[in-house]
Amino acid sequence: MARTVDFYAVLGIARDAGEADIKKAYRKLAMEHHPDRNNGDKASEAKFKEIAEAYEVLRDPEKRAAYDRYGMAGIRGGGGGRGPESMHFDLSEALSIFMRDFGGLGGFDAFFGGGQRAQRDQRRGQDLKVALKLTLAEVATGAQKSVRLHTLDRCSVCSGSGAKPGTKAVRCGTCGGSGEVRRNAQSIFGQFLTVSPCPTCAGEGTVVQSPCDRCGGDGRVKTEKTVQIDVPAGVADHHYLTMRGQGVPGPRGGPPGDLIAVLDIKEDARFERRGDDLIYDLPVSFTQAALGADIDVPTPFGQATLHLHPGTQTGTVQRLRGKGLPRLGEGGHGDLHVRIHVWTPTKLSAEQRRVLEQLSEIESAPPLEGAGRRLWEELKRAFGV
Ligand SMILES: [Zn+2]
Ligand SMILES: [Zn+2]
Repeated sequence: MARTVDFYAVLGIARDAGEADIKKAYRKLAMEHHPDRNNGDKASEAKFKEIAEAYEVLRDPEKRAAYDRYGMAGIRGGGGGRGPESMHFDLSEALSIFMRDFGGLGGFDAFFGGGQRAQRDQRRGQDLKVALKLTLAEVATGAQKSVRLHTLDRCSVCSGSGAKPGTKAVRCGTCGGSGEVRRNAQSIFGQFLTVSPCPTCAGEGTVVQSPCDRCGGDGRVKTEKTVQIDVPAGVADHHYLTMRGQGVPGPRGGPPGDLIAVLDIKEDARFERRGDDLIYDLPVSFTQAALGADIDVPTPFGQATLHLHPGTQTGTVQRLRGKGLPRLGEGGHGDLHVRIHVWTPTKLSAEQRRVLEQLSEIESAPPLEGAGRRLWEELKRAFGV
């Protein structure tokens, strides 16, 4: 039996919460329950996954509508068994972005026991975040993008050490090179140990006594550079791409941070995007709808031909399989759904009017009931509304 989870309760939001509220609640909770912030606690990790899952569904209008209507059944099995894979991608991306938020020292100054905490490198460089603008065509094919970064580079004079050539950083006298100072303190529970970063060397364990003239002892200098970012096909707006070690190098030889590309996908006025599927609205003439026709329709990869069936009603949806966007990490493509609108001419030439008047004398009347309702049902089935 499938489990039942109230995603609204998980995120602590009202059932009519808007997009911004959903995002806000997700960010707040994800930070709170992030495994990194809870020493890898299993319960926190489970909670974090649940939060990510709730967000994955509620941020997507289509999934949210299906969930509102059918509960968990609405989001399982539908869409060809998608779910865990795409979820995994989003989750790992969410993890990488949140790592950055907890890279600092905050909140870890004092704790019981001492020495249990994995040593964080105090000199790790900052992460760099860039906004990457993409068109739908680039999402369709994948793209290699160049971005210009204002960042820091290792100083060539001191090779990044921060010490004047011929000199070296020396072991810190305050902490003896450990980067931490420990202090015994008394509490009502008995004696315990507090550990905090060394105030003299800021946790580095070494101090530069003769700083390099070029970088002033930091080991880095300002630079501008261009980097290439490979964007896989099928990405969506909420994805991040993390390039490990491509961020700012750390001071005095510290390890570099990451480069994080935040995707900003430009809307394509021709299509409405629903996950990997696209919707295209196609106006057709009355004669095309009645007689059938081959009509060129745009896809993200160029033109495709739609074989319009004779007797097509307005509002009908015809699917071009595999003409949607690539499925990220899964292979294959989504579909292009073509919504047919029968267009009624607003101006008629004398000849057109004459022919239509002739037709009106011999045409048959539309059925009195049923057809409109059937169309509506078909639409609802196609879009899960
Ligand atoms: Zn230098
Ligand atoms: Zn020190």
